[in-house]
Amino acid sequence: MSNNSGDRRSRLYRKPHCVAAAVRRIHGVVADNLDNSSAVAIKRVQELAGEFGKNSFRQVDLRDRSALEKFFSEIKFDAVIHFAGLKAVVMASHGCKNLVFSSSATVYGWPKEVPCTEETPLAAVNPYGRTKLFIEEICRGVHRSDPEWKIILLRYFNPVGAHPSGHIGEDPRGIPNNLMPFVQQVAVGRRPALTVFGNDYSTKDGTGVRDYIHVVDLADGHIAALRKLSDPNSTAVIGCEVYNLGTGKGTSVLEMVTAFEKASGKKIPIVAGRRPGDAESCMLQKGGAGIELEGKYGIEEMCRDQWNWASKNPYGYGSPESN
Ligand code: UDP
Repeated sequence: MSNNSGDRRSRLYRKPHCVAAAVRRIHGVVADNLDNSSAVAIKRVQELAGEFGKNSFRQVDLRDRSALEKFFSEIKFDAVIHFAGLKAVVMASHGCKNLVFSSSATVYGWPKEVPCTEETPLAAVNPYGRTKLFIEEICRGVHRSDPEWKIILLRYFNPVGAHPSGHIGEDPRGIPNNLMPFVQQVAVGRRPALTVFGNDYSTKDGTGVRDYIHVVDLADGHIAALRKLSDPNSTAVIGCEVYNLGTGKGTSVLEMVTAFEKASGKKIPIVAGRRPGDAESCMLQKGGAGIELEGKYGIEEMCRDQWNWASKNPYGYGSPESN
């Protein structure tokens, strides 16, 4: 929910996990221009997918119409998971009208009431949230103008953790804006202390509360959404629908830090600070519209896998020199 969340984070972190699930489980093929992503991450995703990883990546720029035409004519797609900020105008002309769009709980702004349901009023309070709102609106318009389109908008809460293999995980460049990447950099000795933003909120221990979801569960949510779109036995009429993706459990900053210390055996020194525009609490209402998603992992596993990734890759996909 922060003012500083950026789509870059989703491209380098959430995307590889979702792509790893899609390549391995439903034989997806990735198109990326590698502008803002890591070729190392793609290679590791391919390794994780084994046999299905072969030939699963094309370097394509969504703005290159003819390259995109070629991509769509070479492979027959049933559906697209859209992570980029650009609209794939080519899809309809190739008869592919199933779309999963990655939105964000940021579209709820600073919710007056928590937990949030899909009906919570939308009030993006930062530019990132506004881009998500606009694209959601574009998706609704696409469906209104051609009801053959089936679209699922997934509103992510706070993805953390990493692939249990430790091969892919979060690797922000520069000073991390988000909690867990910062904590992991303190744990590996790259930063001296975590600044805890706010200790006087009306929450269980005064620190901010969020709905953290293991990034692997988040990736599973995408596969569930795709299955929902293309299930021939489904009687449900899918138009343009919204689903929150979280766990319904609220965890404070201090609880998260304690869980990480336990998982890593490392002490995380903290200092007090404040981030302007921070939301006090944000979590989803369990039993809302929901996607058929059995969240497998709790906070303990999120911290375990975050640490597994960080300890194996203290400098992410780079090296001490590249940081
Ligand atoms: N947070 C913090 N120190 C940091 C980064 C985040 O105390 O260096 C807190 C923040 O105030 C919020 C929680 O951790 O309560 C999650 O913040 P994050 O930026 O990861 O997610 P968002 O606020 O965008 O939901």
